[in-house]
Formats: sequence, C-alpha cells, structure tokens
Amino acid sequence: MPINNRVSAISDDMIQVRHEFHADPELDFDVHRTAAKVADLLRSYGCDEVVEGIGRTGVVGIIHGSRTDSGKVIGLRADMDALPIEEQTGVAYASTTPGLMHACGHDGHTTMLLGAARYLAETRQFDGSVAVIFQPAEEGGGGGREMVDDGMMERFSIAEVYGMHNWPGVPVGSFAITSGVIMASSDVFDITVTGKGGHAAMPHLCIDPVVVAAQMIVALQGIASRNTDPVDAVVITVTSMDMPADNYNVIPSQVFLKGTLRALEPATRDAAEAAMHRVVEHTALAMGATATLDYQRDYPATINTPAQTQHAIDAAVSLVGSEHVDTARAPSMGSEDFSYMLNARPGAFIFVGNGDSAGLHHPQYNFNDDCLAYGSGYWVTLTESLLPVKPA
Ligand SMILES: [Zn+2]
Ligand SMILES: [Zn+2]
Repeated sequence: MPINNRVSAISDDMIQVRHEFHADPELDFDVHRTAAKVADLLRSYGCDEVVEGIGRTGVVGIIHGSRTDSGKVIGLRADMDALPIEEQTGVAYASTTPGLMHACGHDGHTTMLLGAARYLAETRQFDGSVAVIFQPAEEGGGGGREMVDDGMMERFSIAEVYGMHNWPGVPVGSFAITSGVIMASSDVFDITVTGKGGHAAMPHLCIDPVVVAAQMIVALQGIASRNTDPVDAVVITVTSMDMPADNYNVIPSQVFLKGTLRALEPATRDAAEAAMHRVVEHTALAMGATATLDYQRDYPATINTPAQTQHAIDAAVSLVGSEHVDTARAPSMGSEDFSYMLNARPGAFIFVGNGDSAGLHHPQYNFNDDCLAYGSGYWVTLTESLLPVKPA
C-alpha cells in the first residue's frame, strides 16, 4: 500500500488533533499547553525519548529505527506558535482565545509531524534515528535560533534537518521547493531624523525633519532600484512614520521612521545595509539635519543545500509523482527562522500545497485538513528513503 494511504489510515485522529490545536492558539515562547500536549502525544505514540524545554519551550522526540547500524540521525521540524489576529473563519473549532489564532497553519505543521512520529514509532522501517523537532516562536521570536543555541544539534547528533510550510495557492497534493535561497532574510530598522522645530509658517527659521524624512524614504527606494542587480532582489519598506505632536502649526524637531529590509542573497543584504547608512546620514546632512540608523539583523535567508534538496524532491516525487512537484519554485520575500537550523546543518525546506485558501496571516486563513496526509506522508517517505534498511 502506498505510504500516503498508510498514513491516511490514521488521519481521522490527526484531524481531531489539529482542530484541538487550532482552538487553543498560543503566542511566541508561551506555547506551554501546546508543547505539553505535543510531548504527551509523543510519549503515547511510543517515542524512545521526549525532551521538553529546549530553546525555552521547544520539544524534541527521538525515534529509533528497527536498526541503528547507520548511526545517522535526521531532524524533522515543525513550528507550534500562533499569531495575534482575531479569527474570522467561522469554523466550529475556531480559536477560543479572543485576538489569537493559528493564521499561519502551524497547528497543521505540528499535527503533520505528530502523525509522522506516530507512524514511524509504530513501524520503525528505517536504519538510524529520527529527531522530531517542535519549535516555539517562529513568528518573530527566533525559537529556531534558541533551540540551536541550546545545543540541540549536538545533543541529539542531528546530521541533516528538514522543514515544511503549507502554501496557499499551491494545490493540495502538490509540493514546491528550490535549491539555494527559498526565503529571504528579514531585518528591521529605526531611523531618527533630527532637525530644528518651530513655527509652521516660518520654515526658514527651522530645519524641517518631515521634509528630510520624506526625501529619505524616496532615496531609500533607490537602493533596490539603482544599487542592486535587477535580477537579484531586495525590499526596503518603511512601515511607520511618527512625529511627536499632532497639530497644524508646529514643525517638529524630530521624526521617527521604522521599517524592514528583506534580501535573498547574504551579500546583497550586507550591501543594502551599508547603503542604508550612507543614504540616511547623507540625505540628512544635505538638508542641514542629522539622522541615525539603528539596523537590527533578524532572521537570515533560508538556504536549501543542493544534495538535501534533491532528497526532499525524491521523497515528494515518490509520494505524489513528478507532475505534482515544482522543483524550481521562485523564492518568497517572506522569511523563516528554520534558517537558523539550516545555518547549523545541511537540509531543505519545502512548501506543501494548502489549496485555494485565504493567504497566510489573514483572519480567514485556515490550514487545509486534506493536506495532513500529504505532509505526514512526506515526512515518512523522506525518513524511510534517507535511512533505508538494507537487506541482510
Ligand atoms: Zn507566519
Ligand atoms: Zn508560518
């Protein structure tokens, strides 16, 4: 029987589990109920080892194959956190916590990996060990980084690591991946423009930081359009412009900007950061003002290594057929903290189709239950193909 059918046999239970996670979303590192439920389920499935509290609230389960002669351990990773969004799906199992919902499908990711863990612990048709990794705080807190910094890779001797995210717009039963960069780096910045405040009718007696900031916002767009190779990609978005007073007749002395910079290539990220310093400081100087840029690096780019990308493609193709696997997916300018795990070990991040759903982070988004068997099936197929039991 094909692996996806074998996994399907347990999928009714997994739909129920997914709905329970969906109804009880938790944020960032505060995923205590979710992590405890994950750990309990892993124990009930017969995992050989379940360790809680890695990277604060992360959970790792270890499952040994029927043989462990290969000595190899592969890591499979899911994320557990939700978002501060008021749910508008109208489903019976909607969030019971006002203002919080699973709008990125991490409830589905957690369930797909649990389904695979259950199957792998029952069948154990592999030679080596699997570390199933459940991380907190993907949506901004850097839970993946915390688990790596906590020594997870060394502690469990993880050799390769694989991740998966559902993707609205990709058909259910299809997968999409690419070798190299698949998701962008994500950094944030704060700019303070300082001029000289005064009467709105007497600008010649002032240095107007509002006009300086306006010039700066436009000049920053030149980094993407004039300083970066047109076939490469960088996005600089100013997301906030704040002035101390709300009035009609005062020029403020300072303006505060916030925003984000996304890049695909690490060298492009370095160059764009340096260009931002140049543009911010010199635009202000040209207009008689001063400005400071506080640039904070956050998630690095998510970069799939070639050999592991091929393993992921092979597993997906054997599950759903090559016509349902896009192997040259255009990268997304969104970002992912699975990147920290990929910086620590070779591996690959794949998209699994969520069908015709609302977009990620939308209040009407919902993970598609029809996707569960494909995601669990992918994990199982990947494990059994990476860790084959050789005939005696
Ligand atoms: Zn998200
Ligand atoms: Zn997500």
